[in-house]
Amino acid sequence: MTKYIFVTGGVVSGIGKGISCASIGRMLKDRGLKVFMQKFDPYINIDPGTMSPYQHGEVFVTVDGGETDLDLGHYERFIDEELTKNSSITSGKVYFSVIDKERQGVYGGTTIQVIPHITDEIKSKVYTVAKESNADVVITEIGGTVGDIESLPFLEAIRQIHAENKKEDVLFVHTTLVPTVPGSNELKTKPTQHSYKELMSLGIKPDIFILRSDEVITMDIKKKISLFCDVPVEAIVQSENVELIYEVPLSFRRQGLDDYILHKLDLDLPKPEKDTWKDMVTRFKSAQKLITIGLVGKYVQLHDAYLSVANALVDAAYDAGYKVNLRWIYSAELTEETVCDKLKGLDGVLVPGGFGSRGLEGMILTSKYCREHDVPYFGICLGMQMLVVDVARHKAGMKDAHSTEVLPDTAHPIITMMPDKANLTNIGGTLRLGNWECSLKEGTIAGKAYGKKKIVERHRHRYELNNMYREDLAKEGMIFSGINDEKDLVEIVEMKDCRFHVGCQFHPEFNSRPNRIHPLFKAFVLASTKENA
Ligand code: GLN
Repeated sequence: MTKYIFVTGGVVSGIGKGISCASIGRMLKDRGLKVFMQKFDPYINIDPGTMSPYQHGEVFVTVDGGETDLDLGHYERFIDEELTKNSSITSGKVYFSVIDKERQGVYGGTTIQVIPHITDEIKSKVYTVAKESNADVVITEIGGTVGDIESLPFLEAIRQIHAENKKEDVLFVHTTLVPTVPGSNELKTKPTQHSYKELMSLGIKPDIFILRSDEVITMDIKKKISLFCDVPVEAIVQSENVELIYEVPLSFRRQGLDDYILHKLDLDLPKPEKDTWKDMVTRFKSAQKLITIGLVGKYVQLHDAYLSVANALVDAAYDAGYKVNLRWIYSAELTEETVCDKLKGLDGVLVPGGFGSRGLEGMILTSKYCREHDVPYFGICLGMQMLVVDVARHKAGMKDAHSTEVLPDTAHPIITMMPDKANLTNIGGTLRLGNWECSLKEGTIAGKAYGKKKIVERHRHRYELNNMYREDLAKEGMIFSGINDEKDLVEIVEMKDCRFHVGCQFHPEFNSRPNRIHPLFKAFVLASTKENA
């Protein structure tokens, strides 16, 4: 029997609802429960795959190739479970499947309406993940804030789920902001009260409040909310400011939130014997040494576009006892004249993924600079492709070598579209997505880092290293240390005689967890610290 926790947001967005959900998941997992997570996003896009990073931040990719909301990255990092396409549901997806069924005649001539057809579809998404995952608890976050027009069908669907299950099987958590008024330090509960009323008018009575505030939420404030919003004070916790986001589950636990949730769900479970999450946080916080890593990309103004990359990197460094001084470098600003200056003093450089032509020359120069100055370079997806272009241009003498993504007529199409992708007209969901196998070459940096022969990694790209150039590139010292045997595609390249000049076509950041650092991030960080280099 699965139990359900629904998390809604009130007052404003951007107050860490995703982290709160992930933290609830972590706490419950630590109490021995099998947890699965899901996010509802009320926008109309089928998925965020076609959205600009400026609109949406990173697109997180699930093992089964779902292009999803970045909150799923938090979920996976906190609960250390693999989620699926069904963990990310948008209004677009819901309407698309209802309309598709209508075209197939599934509804037998009835008028299709928001209630019950759209709401039934939403409910089926919740029940489906419960069945598929066999979880004890499914936590579903409702994106946006209560009061948005678009989120109404989702709220109605979760109200119905509450109505059709036992009361101890469904829990509503509401996250709100408790602001202070400029000029006085007085905390204001009125926005929370209004948000509560809004939810009540939709038939949802929150069981738990998570309050976000810079100031300490005093017992007086809790009593006030308790009175106006009809919950006991134990049901009210604060989402405090913390140094590391991984501390949030510990903070919630200190406030008794895990015990209260279990009590409401009528579950009696012992506290964990070993507190491995806390040990991890303590270890991370004791990191003393410092390394400076440059992140060279085209969306660096918006750090959310590289959320998982930055987390994987920072976690890997903490794990090795280092704090990262992360320098965000806009690749379009790197030219022959500026590159030395801008990359000077870095212990390592990471070039992450991206699409389109802006800033590519800067990435190619970055690879060249790192090769020539033996600065560790880690290229991910686009960062790997530009590494290959650099070597083709500057070592193999193919001056106009490029990816056909930006230069379709180049005489040296060193990176090309996979043949099976060439004739696609739709841009949505047509990339090479999700898990693909890769065989590693023994004795290489990658082979040693993973310590095994076969790996599986997540992908999100359309272009590949052109196999026709493998021989030319090998002559220049390029090693193809990871290959997908099924399609004979290059997955990992590395340069001989460099401390660490490695590129991978997949996205290792989606598989890195704070408590299970990804081998390539670990190897990159260690090379940058000159340990084990
Ligand atoms: N634009 C490149 C491709 O489609 C790289 C994609 C990426 O970095 N995720 O292959």
